Amino acid sequence: MIENSKLTVIGAGAVGSSVAYAALIRGSARHVALYDINAEKTEAEVLDLAHGTLFTRGGDIIGGSDIAVAEGSHVVVITAGAKQKPGQTRIELAATNAKIVRSLMRQTLEVAPDAVFVIVTNPCDVLTMLAHEGSGLPAERVFSSGTVLDSSRLRWEIARRTNVASTSVHAQIVGEHGDTEFPLWSAVRINAVPILDWTGEDGTPMFTREQLDQIAVDVRDAAYKVIQGKGATNYAIGLSSARIVEAILGDENAVLNVSTVLSDFHGIDGVALSVPSIVNSSGAHPIYETPFDEQEIAKLRESAAALEKVAADLRD
Ligand code: NAD
Repeated sequence: MIENSKLTVIGAGAVGSSVAYAALIRGSARHVALYDINAEKTEAEVLDLAHGTLFTRGGDIIGGSDIAVAEGSHVVVITAGAKQKPGQTRIELAATNAKIVRSLMRQTLEVAPDAVFVIVTNPCDVLTMLAHEGSGLPAERVFSSGTVLDSSRLRWEIARRTNVASTSVHAQIVGEHGDTEFPLWSAVRINAVPILDWTGEDGTPMFTREQLDQIAVDVRDAAYKVIQGKGATNYAIGLSSARIVEAILGDENAVLNVSTVLSDFHGIDGVALSVPSIVNSSGAHPIYETPFDEQEIAKLRESAAALEKVAADLRD
């Protein structure tokens, strides 16, 4: 457990302010700082958040447009950058956001040299690869929120269909946080029951393979639907990011599907992909023993190839 823990959230837009809000309400860190180049917006967000701290768990909030606010942070969550417009893919944001994240990593490391970095800005896996290469930090100290959010969406989908609490649905989305992501169906259980064995009231299996495939598509495309309706996704990513921050600051060894640059994970090297990982105060550590069946390995390789290509274009 880190005492007097400090979280800095970079980017005070829809996502960044929701991360700060969730972290304050949940008491994820003792001190929260918010940084953005837009001074007026940041000061307004900080004031609004500060006015509610009487009703939170005792953390405090500061912020502004000087990176010095991040000084001494234990965790830095990066949310700054361009976001998807309706219909736009995450990958289409890559070039703009790569420049922003590279420069932010440099500035932040000067004031918070020991921080663990969590990248939320999209495309978060590719940006994690570039941030890892550019900073020289060990892979465990710069990772992305990856498919923690997507896994929560999957657990919610299964929970509402089966009428079982989502905390008792054990299910992971792995791979890219984006169009090539997929559920690790071979490992999905409701408590101890494999998903294909779960029966409805009539005693017959509740799900067919086709229905599971449709759930995977719904989860993959969930963000497009939310962005179409309200222009951004913010609450669920705010909560998932706060959960990741707690696992780091609390040195929890919690297993979360974050995205780290992998070395020889089922033969995949040098690409950031989400797989079940142990998260603690030193960062994120992929669980190399996680079993994948043959089809799942093939899909993970597809994810890796897609991201490798985008990262290579950005390095040129
Ligand atoms: P937004 O436009 O509301 O906010 C972005 C903020 O970044 C703005 O306030 C802007 O001033 C700031 N910014 C831009 N360049 C900066 C710089 N160089 N330094 C400091 N601040 C800078 O966007 P949003 O809705 O908050 O989304 C932010 C990012 O998060 C997007 O890339 C989006 O795609 C991503 N996102 C990721 C996930 C995920 O699961 N990984 C989920 C939702 C959104």
